[in-house]
Amino acid sequence: MDRNTETRDTFLAGLRNAHAMESQALSVMQPQLNRLEHYPELRSLLEQHYRETEGQIARLDQIFEGLGESASSLKDSALSAMGAMQAMGHSLASDEILKNTMADYMFEHFEIAAYTALITMAQTEGMTSAVPLLQANLEEERRCASSLYEIIPVVTERFMERLARGEKANV
Ligand code: MG
Ligand code: FE
Repeated sequence: MDRNTETRDTFLAGLRNAHAMESQALSVMQPQLNRLEHYPELRSLLEQHYRETEGQIARLDQIFEGLGESASSLKDSALSAMGAMQAMGHSLASDEILKNTMADYMFEHFEIAAYTALITMAQTEGMTSAVPLLQANLEEERRCASSLYEIIPVVTERFMERLARGEKANV
């Protein structure tokens, strides 16, 4: 394999990983949304980001289309199963809401790192048409991460208050 094939394949693998990562994001957020009761700030943020994530998947599909390639349904379903398992695992914890918020925050930063690397690869590969689409996804991840950061103390404070009053606090 010459260098060009190899670097192009690495970029494509990165795009497929990002597509699978976004499937995972949907399958992490959906069960959280189904269970949330007492944290409307987090609910509206997750609802908004769920819709954004669907748009991010559409942008990645658009990139694949432009390159005459496609996402990997195998990777998509593997990571999406992983996401569902993570959400299920947290649902057993009495501090479920805190575990989920922290994991969501971590996940957004993983996405920020992934898109930052992909943008650099797209630039070095000369695939300039992919750059603005990847940048649009990156911007949404950044905004979501900073909103989550602001929500952490709000959610934690309410969690502690509800707990102190003996009220249901986990979701
Ligand atoms: Mg995303
Ligand atoms: Fe995200």
